Amino acid sequence: MTILGATGSIGLNTLDVVRRHPDRFSVYALTAATRVDEMAALCREFRPALAVMADEQAAQLLAERLSNQPETRVLAGERGLCEVAADPAVNTVMAAIVGAAGLAPTLAAVDAGKRVLLANKEALVMSGQLFMDAVARSGAELLPIDSEHNAIFQCLPSGQVRDLPGAGVRRILLTASGGPFRSHTAEQLRTVTPAQACKHPNWSMGQKISVDSATLMNKGLELIEACWLFNTTPDCIEVHVHPESIIHSMVEYVDGSVLAQLGSPDMRTPIANGMAWPDRVEAGVDALDLFALGRFHFERPDPVRFPCLRLAAEAFARGGTAPTVLNAANEAAVAAFLEGHLCFADIPVIIERTMESLPVRPALDFDGIFAADREARAQALELIRQVRG
Ligand code: NDP
Repeated sequence: MTILGATGSIGLNTLDVVRRHPDRFSVYALTAATRVDEMAALCREFRPALAVMADEQAAQLLAERLSNQPETRVLAGERGLCEVAADPAVNTVMAAIVGAAGLAPTLAAVDAGKRVLLANKEALVMSGQLFMDAVARSGAELLPIDSEHNAIFQCLPSGQVRDLPGAGVRRILLTASGGPFRSHTAEQLRTVTPAQACKHPNWSMGQKISVDSATLMNKGLELIEACWLFNTTPDCIEVHVHPESIIHSMVEYVDGSVLAQLGSPDMRTPIANGMAWPDRVEAGVDALDLFALGRFHFERPDPVRFPCLRLAAEAFARGGTAPTVLNAANEAAVAAFLEGHLCFADIPVIIERTMESLPVRPALDFDGIFAADREARAQALELIRQVRG
């Protein structure tokens, strides 16, 4: 395996599954961006043939740390990331870099026809049809790791995950935890801090996706992700806020049957599912205690306090580069919020204004996608400067 984003939350959970099955999985390459200490420790334990740091200086530091470990070669930069994603020695690539930075290496894995375990939803959101065309062209095996999409995947007949009408599916019920601010008033949302936003009630995740969960943009990105993965449209998907995060999503069939996938909120379940598919392997996840849980709750999402879900649906409907712009503006706004430069409630404001101020262009090729991403980031940063006054 190559694990892109090895030092992150998904990367570490993936390595925990690898650790449990040394006879079945082995690590060929690990990648990170800047966290040298964490990466050096992982390289000492897993002894990969290749280790990549996206940051050149971090790569130099890592090479010094590993000077007494000659079997691990250190590479740097996006080229290194793409090289280990496409390496002929690898058959499975965990795509777990956060944000748009993951698109090029994930695409390299797709183009090389790997089994691609997709956690990096932003890559698919920003390039949609082009990404799926690349999968079809290369014959790559794309398996969803996002817990909701993995749940839907498990509830669909294998072989018909992109043919919902043929499979007799009426709609997808996409569950959402509602995040840490589910019951906050609009007024309270103006004063929440990054630390509060990153403290998810059920899941332990990286900072960016934690903030996305709090704004519900995570569900918006997942709505778009589901449309591409399962070849459907937002009107066939209904978001259900389910604060317990035990039902990871459901599929409703025309005969009235609703199949759900349940489990403890632990990413090792979908990760192990993708790694071993179609087999099952032990993942170290606590058994579900339904007696202790007692009951489940469901609510509709509130589009007034949490407008990001609507913005994502609009971006998908507009098509072309609109989802690229949505994603880039969100990344810029979330980064500004985490740095203390933007209030939480202004995240959707920045995204909406960025979308309104840029034209939607046809998504003809990946160069166009990267250009739209750069333009939207620059525009969002300008709008953030204006909001800060
Ligand atoms: P983290 O922030 O925990 O980890 C991100 C990883 O990406 C780290 O290894 C980081 O390296 C690396 N990275 C960051 N920036 C770059 C860059 N510019 N170039 C190359 N590598 C980079 O994120 P998560 O693990 O939480 O999320 C990863 C992806 O998985 C996201 O797309 C997220 O939406 C998705 N996901 C996550 C879930 C979760 O439970 N965490 C659930 C479902 C989906 P370094 O450590 O050196 O900074």
